[in-house]
Amino acid sequence: MTTEPSLNPTIDGFHQVINALKHHHLNTIFGLVGIPITDLARQAQASGIRFIGFRHEQQAGNAAAIAGYLTQSPGICLTVSAPGFLNGLTALANATTNCFPMILISGSSEREIVDLQQGDYEEMDQLNAAKPYAKASYRINHIEDIGIGFARAIRAAVSGRPGGVYLDLPAKLLSQTMDAQEAQKSLFSIIDPVPSQSPSKESIERALELLKNAKRPLIILGKGAAYAQADLVIRDFIEKSKIPYLPMSMAKGLLPDNHTQSASAARSYVLAEADTVLLIGARLNWLLAHGKGKTWGKPKNFIQIDISPTEIDSNVAIAAPIIGDIGSCVKALLDGLQPKLLTAEPTWMTSILERKEKNLTKMAQTLDLNPSPMNFHSALGSIKKILNQHPEIIVVNEGANTLDFARSIIDMSLPRKRLDSGTWGIMGIGMGYAIGAAVTTGLPVVAIEGDSAFGFSGMEVETICRYQLPIVVIVFNNNGVYSGTDVNPTGGKDVAPTVFVKGARYDKMMEAFGGVGCHATTPEELSAGLKKAIASGKPTLINAVIDESAGTESGRLTTLNPKTAPLSK
Ligand code: ADP
Ligand code: MG
Repeated sequence: MTTEPSLNPTIDGFHQVINALKHHHLNTIFGLVGIPITDLARQAQASGIRFIGFRHEQQAGNAAAIAGYLTQSPGICLTVSAPGFLNGLTALANATTNCFPMILISGSSEREIVDLQQGDYEEMDQLNAAKPYAKASYRINHIEDIGIGFARAIRAAVSGRPGGVYLDLPAKLLSQTMDAQEAQKSLFSIIDPVPSQSPSKESIERALELLKNAKRPLIILGKGAAYAQADLVIRDFIEKSKIPYLPMSMAKGLLPDNHTQSASAARSYVLAEADTVLLIGARLNWLLAHGKGKTWGKPKNFIQIDISPTEIDSNVAIAAPIIGDIGSCVKALLDGLQPKLLTAEPTWMTSILERKEKNLTKMAQTLDLNPSPMNFHSALGSIKKILNQHPEIIVVNEGANTLDFARSIIDMSLPRKRLDSGTWGIMGIGMGYAIGAAVTTGLPVVAIEGDSAFGFSGMEVETICRYQLPIVVIVFNNNGVYSGTDVNPTGGKDVAPTVFVKGARYDKMMEAFGGVGCHATTPEELSAGLKKAIASGKPTLINAVIDESAGTESGRLTTLNPKTAPLSK
C-alpha cells in the first residue's frame, strides 16, 4: 500500500509562531537575534510585525515590560538561548515584581542534551531557571501546541495580577512542520482574558462605613491604579469624596499634580496624621515604609483595593479589603458614596493646604537659585518649566538623587506619563523603558537619568538613533554614583568605588551614532537644549553638568545602606 503524498501546503514552526503572534495582535517584538531565533525575527519582520533590535536583551525586556504596562497587552521580548535568556530574565523578573504583563520568548537548545547535561551550545535548563521569577513558565514542544501555548502565555500575563511569562521555544520546534490548514485551525481567540472582577457587596459596605466615620481620610494611588486605566472613575471618586490623595510615583498624573486635593507636598504630614487610608492599587511595601513605624504615626484603618487577595494583610492588618479590579471596585464605592454623610474634620484639608503652600513656596525658591555649577534643583527647575508646556511627553526617570528630586519636582498632568525605577527601585531600566514607550505610543520621551543609572543601558543610544526615536536623554552628570567627590584614602592610583571619569562627555555618545549631542552647564543651556530637542523630535542626549558634591549617598534611601565608621583620609 502506498500513502498519498499530502497535497495540502505545510507550515513550519517559525511561521506558526509568527501567525500566533499576529493572531493575537502582538505586532511588535523587542529582541536581539542570534541562534536559534534569527530567522524568526527576519520572518516576523517580513510578515509585517515590527522588530525592534536592541544591543542587550535586558533592555529589550524592559521595553517589552513597559509596553505591557502602557497597553495592558503583553509586551513581547525575543532572545537567544542561555546568556541571552538570562539577560532577558532580569527584565522578566522586574516585570513580574511590578505587575507588568510581558512574555519573554527564548529559543533553547536540544532538550535531550540539556537534560543529560551533555554540553550543548548554550546549554541551560531555561524553563526551570525562569520559574521563580515569572508569573508562569511554559515550553512548547510540538508545533501543534503553538496555539495553546500562546493562549496560555497571554492569559497568564494579563489576567488577575499581571506579570511576566516565560515561553520556551526549543530550536527543534521551529523546524517542525504541519498541515497549514490544521495549523490555522489550532489558533483561536482568547475569550475574556481580563474578566472584570466585581467586589463583594459586603466589602464595599465595610469600606464605605470606615470612610463615613473617618476624620482624617487619605487615598493612596499606586501604579496598579494607573495600569487599570480607570482614570475617570478614580478622579470622580476622589473629587466627589473630597478626600486628599497621595500618588505613588508612577500614579502621578492620574489626577494632575497641581490638583487641590493632591497631598504630595505634604506627604509626611498626611501619612503620619491620617486615620483612615484607602489604598488603590498600591502595595504597603518598602516604598510605603510597610504601613507601620514612625512614618505612619497615628493608628490607621486601612482599606485596600487589589486584584490579588493575598496582597491583603501582607504587612499590616487591613480593616476593609476590597478584592476586584480597580475600575469595578472604585465604581462600586462611588455608587455607594453619600458625600453628605462623610464626617471628615474641616481642618484636615485646610491644614494640608497650609503645609502644601509652605513647602511649595520653599521649593520654588530653591528651584530658582542659580548656583554654579548647577545642582539637582536648578537643573530640574529648568526642565520643569519646559515639560509643563508638554503634558503629552512621557518622562522616564532613574538614578538615586536624580530620581528622588525629579519625582517631587517634575509635575505630571496626564496618566501613565511617568515611568521609573518602580517596585525594586532598580537602576538600568532607562533606555529600555524610553524605547518601549516611544515605539508603543509614538509620543516623545524625555529620560532624566543619573550618570550611573544611564551607564547600565547607555549603549542603547545606538538603538534610539537607528530607529530615529523622539527620545531626549538628559544625563545628570555629577562624575559618579551619588556624588563624584570620594577619594581613595590609601592614596593608591584607583579612584574611590563611587567615582567615574571626571568631566565625561556623554553627549558625544549620541553624536557617535548620528544623534544630537548637547553639553549644558547652566539652566539656560539645559532648557534651550531640551526645547530644541523636543521641537526637532531627533534623538538627543544632553550632558547636564551637575555639582559633583551635590548628591547625598543613596539619595533618600540612606537608612537602607548599612555603613561602618567613616573612612579616615
Ligand atoms: P506602587 O508601587 O505604585 O505602590 P504597586 O506596584 O506596589 O504600586 O501596587 C500595584 C498593585 O495594584 C498590585 O498589588 C497589583 O496587584 C494591583 N493591581 C494591578 N492591576 C490591578 C487591577 N486592574 N485591579 C486591581 N488591582 C490591580
Ligand atoms: Mg551620579
